[in-house]
Amino acid sequence: VRPNIRAMKPYSSARDEFQGEAQVMLDANENSLGSAGPASFNRYPDPLQRQVKAELAKLKGVEPAQIFLGNGSDEAIDLLVRLTCTPGQDRILILPPTYGMYEVAANLNDVALERHPLTLDFQLSPELIEGIVASDAKLVFLCSPNNPTGNLLRAEDIEQVLRGFRGLVVVDEAYADFAAAPSWTTRLAEFPNLVVLQTFSKAWGLAGLRLGMAFASPDIIGYLNKIKPPYNISEATQQHALAALQDAPRFEAMKQELLQGRDWLAQQLPTLEIVESVFPSDANFLLARFRPDATAVYDYLLGKGIVVRNRTTQPGCAGTLRLTVGTPQENEALLAALQEYPK
Ligand code: PMP
Repeated sequence: VRPNIRAMKPYSSARDEFQGEAQVMLDANENSLGSAGPASFNRYPDPLQRQVKAELAKLKGVEPAQIFLGNGSDEAIDLLVRLTCTPGQDRILILPPTYGMYEVAANLNDVALERHPLTLDFQLSPELIEGIVASDAKLVFLCSPNNPTGNLLRAEDIEQVLRGFRGLVVVDEAYADFAAAPSWTTRLAEFPNLVVLQTFSKAWGLAGLRLGMAFASPDIIGYLNKIKPPYNISEATQQHALAALQDAPRFEAMKQELLQGRDWLAQQLPTLEIVESVFPSDANFLLARFRPDATAVYDYLLGKGIVVRNRTTQPGCAGTLRLTVGTPQENEALLAALQEYPK
């Protein structure tokens, strides 16, 4: 944690001091008359999102004090970089190919990047782990399941990083709901340097809501709360998240349908002449290698109104496109279009 952040006083509002039911609330320059539009949002939201955290704590088997909520997990990524790295001085460590926002957050904050590329099968190796452990970067992002490759990193490798690395170890589990492995949230008590990121954007189907989670020790969560914008999660988001958390059956049903779609696509794609390989996925997308020209396939799909992600320029990803699993109809449309790709 940066010394200036340890020392600083956070923003505080009158509501931090007074948490009962007041009769007359004239402290925050709100509009007491009501709201324009159909719903009532004239009051500032709970800065610490206590109700949402109480429900999430039950669901995830952690304490509310171990949860931070962000405007997407992207906000947590940015705050974690800012929490640990002094601009122009410190570094974070990433393992390409991986999620692009780590690099953007570093660049935005004038924080240098130390890149340790994953192996050809997108895993850690003993040499890689040695390099990470020897680094004095302030923070390492381990994305598992990894975006854009879809695979989980081996638990024993992550554990070695957690034991050896001197800075914060952020395990980004944005896609963990689709994975056949327990979440690292179950191991928070063992590792004081562990931060786990999750999101409502994927399996919960709430990307438009912008709600992400960080799980860590109460100490680390306290620092994230100290530096976050005071009202970073809107009242609308908090209300909607509470309703979504009551809708676990829909969450489960969608997850199962997406997993079926993933398995179907993973079976079908390799039957195509233009598909060289499909990488194993524990996420809601597949990375596939196309021949002879993935970018030509990408452009062809665009022409058919099908947008996928071109990953050909990512390290270790030459010739690949990343395909999100959609509805059964969308998956079939994708496959049909690829089957008709002109020879
Ligand atoms: N982490 C990973 C690995 C992701 O792929 C994404 C979304 N693309 C995010 C974090 C950010 O998710 P959000 O901000 O929507 O919570």
